[in-house]
Amino acid sequence: MLSDASPHRLVETLGERIEKLEIEFHRAYWDSQVKATPENDRRRVELELELRRVKGDSEALHAVEAALDGELHDPVLSRQLELLRLSLLGNQMEESLRAEIVELSTGVESDFANHRATVAGKRVTDNEIESILRASDDEALRRDAWEGSKEIGAIAAPRVRELARLRNSAALNLGYADYYSMALELQEMSEGWLFTVLEEVEKLTEEPFRRWKTELDERLRERFKVTQVLPWHYADPFFQALPPDGRVSVDPLVEGRASPDLVHTTFSGWDVDLSRVLELSDIYPREGKSQHAFCLDVDRSGNDVRILANVVPGERWTEIMLHESGHAAYDISVDPQLPYSLRRAAHTFTTEAMAIMSGRLVHDPRWLVDFAGAPPAEVDAISGPLRRAAAMQSLAFVRWALVVVHFERDLYLDPESDLDARWWELVERFQLVAPPPDRTAPDWAAKIHVAAAPAYYHNYLLGELLASQLEATCEHECGGLVGNPAAGRLLVDRLFHPGALLRWDSLVEGATGRPLSAADFASSLTA
Ligand SMILES: [Zn+2]
Repeated sequence: MLSDASPHRLVETLGERIEKLEIEFHRAYWDSQVKATPENDRRRVELELELRRVKGDSEALHAVEAALDGELHDPVLSRQLELLRLSLLGNQMEESLRAEIVELSTGVESDFANHRATVAGKRVTDNEIESILRASDDEALRRDAWEGSKEIGAIAAPRVRELARLRNSAALNLGYADYYSMALELQEMSEGWLFTVLEEVEKLTEEPFRRWKTELDERLRERFKVTQVLPWHYADPFFQALPPDGRVSVDPLVEGRASPDLVHTTFSGWDVDLSRVLELSDIYPREGKSQHAFCLDVDRSGNDVRILANVVPGERWTEIMLHESGHAAYDISVDPQLPYSLRRAAHTFTTEAMAIMSGRLVHDPRWLVDFAGAPPAEVDAISGPLRRAAAMQSLAFVRWALVVVHFERDLYLDPESDLDARWWELVERFQLVAPPPDRTAPDWAAKIHVAAAPAYYHNYLLGELLASQLEATCEHECGGLVGNPAAGRLLVDRLFHPGALLRWDSLVEGATGRPLSAADFASSLTA
């Protein structure tokens, strides 16, 4: 009986059960991504369900809660129990409800994977829509492409709403107000704290964003010969990225360099050796392989961390490889002496911060010269615009992320409300983009994260803030980040090595000397 076991024994028994399944799931996940076959997909889904079932064991949860109520003098043990409690809690629900949620979300995901929008009478991919929005001067075609990008919203919306209801009912059963506040609690974050930070971010970015957007709109009015700028005049369907116009490209400076070599030398500059990671990784595009990029820590031993990517020469994939390598550097540097359940990043956003900080290097003049081997005079000539492009990229992304995060909270607060109108209120407030006249459609459901990655988006936003705070700390304490072994040591010792032994807030404060805030992010926008 679990309830009779000592806390040590309990952690060991449950830990072993979860560890074994999780590693098996990671292997199956990798296989399904490098080679999509029905067999690989089936195995991945089966293991995922099995893992959720094991974590849904209510007897295990009660035993863990009872152990936490007792006196514990071992901080490692109590942290393990606390993380176990959170992971078990999120999976407590009736078997039928679990099955319903998995079935609906799998359905929504395959809607997204299979849908092809119709633009100018032709079925097109997302990439084709994006290239129209990036390059075309044909107003009617742009409008068609933008509207096409929202078609999936109308298809997915009823199921996304239903998923919100089901997730809410699971949360309600556990005594939470709704799914969103439960999900944040399980991520050891309070809704009150998060939205206070978001308010600060909103205030600090308001003016710089308005200024940048006003200039952009002027250029767009001139280019398209219109008096009012509409959503399809921007360069991507959600206006979440920096448009290519008026921006310097790093393409010619990195095109001749192989990304694996580039990330290897970059991280060697921090005394972090990525040789084994790169050996195990699957880096180049191939038929039947996932088109995305991710980093996977298969068994948390530090010896089996892999990156999946689809590298082609140029700025975009260099940035992605740097980003994923940031995740990998974190994973391989966690203290191997910690028990399995603590051998991971303290929080999704702390590893995201390292990845974002690494990805930003592609716009760093010093990195371009020292690591990418670009001619100093050429880099010097564009260093101002380069820094500005990097800052504006983060600014545009953060204003967009404010939309998604606020919307998600409202979706779970009341799934029956007028979500179509709410979405555009938020887009107008944060991105300063007005809806097309008389637009009534579930445009919110066209963003896959709202449907398939619930209560996740704030981690990207917090990652941007922490990336800036870490850059400032390395600058201040080590005299710089790029190619500086002292900065590497600081990151390894203070951020990576403790794994999940500390809660994210103590970790951040220990690593940077102050609590997480938007201050350094805001000052990087005006620097
Ligand atoms: Zn990432």
